[in-house]
Order: sequence, then C-alpha cells, then structure tokens
Amino acid sequence: MSRQQPKVGFVSLGCPKALVDSERILTQLKVEGYDIVPTYDAADVVVVNTCGFIESAVDESLGAIGEALNENGKVIVTGCLGKRPEKILDVHPGVLAISGPQDYASVMDAVHKAIPPKHDPFVDLLPDYGLKLTPKHYAYLKISEGCNHRCSFCIIPSMRGDLVSRPVDDVLREAERLVKGGVKELLVISQDTSAYGVDTRYAERQWRDKTYATRMGDLCKGLSELGVWVRLHYVYPYPHVDDIIPLMAEGKLLPYLDIPFQHASPKILKAMKRPGAIDKVRERIHRWREICPEITLRSTFIVGFPGETEDDFEELLDFIDEVELDRVGAFAYSPVEGAAANNLADPVPEDVKQERLQRFMELQAEISADKLADKVGSLQEVLVDRVDGELAFARSKADAPEIDGSVQIQNGAEAGLKPGDFIEVEIMGSDEHDLYALVRD
Ligand code: SF4
Repeated sequence: MSRQQPKVGFVSLGCPKALVDSERILTQLKVEGYDIVPTYDAADVVVVNTCGFIESAVDESLGAIGEALNENGKVIVTGCLGKRPEKILDVHPGVLAISGPQDYASVMDAVHKAIPPKHDPFVDLLPDYGLKLTPKHYAYLKISEGCNHRCSFCIIPSMRGDLVSRPVDDVLREAERLVKGGVKELLVISQDTSAYGVDTRYAERQWRDKTYATRMGDLCKGLSELGVWVRLHYVYPYPHVDDIIPLMAEGKLLPYLDIPFQHASPKILKAMKRPGAIDKVRERIHRWREICPEITLRSTFIVGFPGETEDDFEELLDFIDEVELDRVGAFAYSPVEGAAANNLADPVPEDVKQERLQRFMELQAEISADKLADKVGSLQEVLVDRVDGELAFARSKADAPEIDGSVQIQNGAEAGLKPGDFIEVEIMGSDEHDLYALVRD
C-alpha cells in the first residue's frame, strides 16, 4: 500500500534542552503520521528550532531560517529565539509561524495549518500511545479492568468481570510513551487501584533493567521515575496504601488520593458490602497526614442508601466533620438495574434523601472553603489547562481534572501561559471550590 505522507524537514539548533524539544516535536510529528525528511527539497514545510542565548546563536538561527526560506519557502520557527519574534520578523517577515521553547502545541498547530496530517485508516488509526480524548498534557492510564468486590449498589463486576491487571511493564511502557508524547500528568485509573496485580499474583516483570512486581507500590515507584505528575484514583484504604505515602512526602507522586469511602456507618457499609472498619480508616488518615501533611484526600459518598437511619446519616456527617476531607462528591442513592441493593429493605424516601444530600453538601462546602482559605497567601505549583481571555485555568497538585476545582490565574494571558505549562503562582483568594491566583514576576 503506498500513499504520500506529508513531509517535514527539521533543523535543530542550540543546547541539549532545545534538542529535547526537537525530539518531542519530532515524536509528535511521527505519531501523527508525518514523514521526517533530510533535505529541503523533499520537505513540504520546514521547522527550525532556534537558539537565542547569545548574539552568535541569534545570527546562526537567523541564518538557518533564511536558508530554509530560500531553499523551501515554507518555514515554521520555534525555540528560544521565538521569544523575540520581532528579531525574526525584521529579517524574515515571510515565516509562517513563531513560537517559543517547549511550545509543542503551537508548533503542531502551525504544521497542521501548513500541511494537514493525512489520515490513512490502515496505517494510522492509532498513534503510538493510542487515541486520547484528553488534552495533550494529561492522560488517563488504565492499569486494570474489572473488580473482585461485590458492592451491593454496583453492577460493574457483572458487566466487566473480575479484576484483570495489565502487566506492570506494559503499563510503564505506555506511561513512558505518553510522557514522550508531551503528557505532563498521568492519572492512574481502574476500578480498584489498591488491588492491582492480585490476580497476577504480583507477577514480576522487567522495565528499564529493573524488576518490578505487578502491584501498586512497584507501579508507583516506576511511574515516579518518569518525572511527571502522577495522580492515583480509586484507591481502597487497605494497609499497603500506607507504603506509598512516603513517596508522596518525597515529591515522587502527587500527594493526592482519591478514595471512594461511600459511607461511614459500619451498618450501612456492611449493607453496601464494603469494608466496614471505619475506625481503622480514621487512624490511617491521621497517620497519612503525619507522614505527608500536604496530602489531599478526595472521596465520594452515597447518602440515603436503603436502611440508612437519621443516626447512620449523622455518623456520616460526624466522620466528614472529623476527618475533613479536601474534596468530596456525594450522590443520593438511586437504584441501578440489576444491583443487589435493589432488594434491600427500608428504602429511604426521595425527599429525605434530598434533604440529607443538601445537609451533607452544606457541611462539606464549609470544610472545603476553610481548607481552601488556608491556602491563600501560599505559593503553589500549577499546571495550566486552558487560557480564556485574560484568565488561565490551571490546577494545583490538589486538583484532578474534571472532578476537582481549579486555580484561576488572573493575569494568565499577560504572563504568556499556555496549556501544559507548569508555573508557580501566588494564591490571592478562594471560595468553596476554586482558588484565585496571580503570576508574580
Ligand atoms: S463500587 Fe467499585 S469496588 Fe465496588 S464493586 Fe463496583 S467497581 Fe468494584
């Protein structure tokens, strides 16, 4: 099968950091099906990654841009000299686009405009790291499918079966590819992340010349080697979760755990067929915070589960009041077709469910507002998701995409922020969900 792939020529100048930028851009071009060609003649467009560190490097870069324009005519400029576009435009007003260092998205946009990628359903249905529906700078990393629990309100095990874990080297290689493709944050997902590998009897595999067991602790150690944010979702509070808290305290994993507790009354947890040792959970949370004071805990709860009395509900309120979780989602129980809980006695009337949900959310809103207010005045590292007008919408280590709040950077556009940028900001204000910040010079 033959077809004409769009062809890109590439000139890479500058230091090792610029070289890594070139590698990233080239990786993305390959992933999208562009051919990289070694001559101006063969190229449909030429990307020049420039250096602007000293005057001689500026001259060399301007010379390279001029050569590419003479030889090819279609030139996209990126890299350090791109931070001073007037320098380039004074000499070469005909370049197609200019962007600064590490701005992979702008380079790719310019290439797309100059020569759209050619879709071949036989060759490039999937890029190297699979299709992604998330923005380029974060990606979900699915480590297993199915679940060995049988929570009475859930039908996932009957739809997806028991837990099947991906071998740890397979997951780590996928993570590596994603990071090479520009991903800055990996979100580990599954139905039960703590149970990862139990079905494989924690099979050992090799990755980067080291042995890793297919289990949560080793997976986290491997992921922490990749130098990006790693966020864990759907973790059960089992004892071995304690082992990864030191990695969070050392800054190797994001200090963030998403643990769906669902309830805090042992009676209701039993009816849900979930672990009911809520006192142990309390102790565990206190210990985690001692080891890693900045840990963010997110959870979800169901209110109005069949058989929930006012006392059970107040036990739940006492729990969230005491442990002060940072982020909480709550739902009024509603039956799912095929779930065992549908047969439980004493359903809670709809108006009572809604009234409890409201009380729950009001209490949590106060807790959340206090916790966020404590951050006012602090400096936080954030990852920019999008820029809209003057504002940049970013997330701190405490905020997962889609489900948590955001950090609104008031001077985001003025500071030149782009999606995928990491930046330190000063927190100036807060409400019960979001933080408001400024980039300081
Ligand atoms: S709620 Fe989660 S842990 Fe429970 S059965 Fe469903 S998928 Fe498994």
